[in-house]
Amino acid sequence: MKNMFLCRTKNHVWKSREDAAKCCNGYKRVLVTGKEIPPGTPNIIVNKQTGIKYSRIWVKE
Ligand SMILES: [Zn+2]
Repeated sequence: MKNMFLCRTKNHVWKSREDAAKCCNGYKRVLVTGKEIPPGTPNIIVNKQTGIKYSRIWVKE
């Protein structure tokens, strides 16, 4: 596998070093929808059936 990064506990695999650095390291992954999505959030997904936008962001624990 190319460009895969393990988090601090080596329990999770991420495609980016930034995500891997935050996982299990004081941050948690949270699902946000619609207006909760902060501007500039990458990887926003639109549900084709409902039209609802959602993404997962890192939040400090
Ligand atoms: Zn982790």
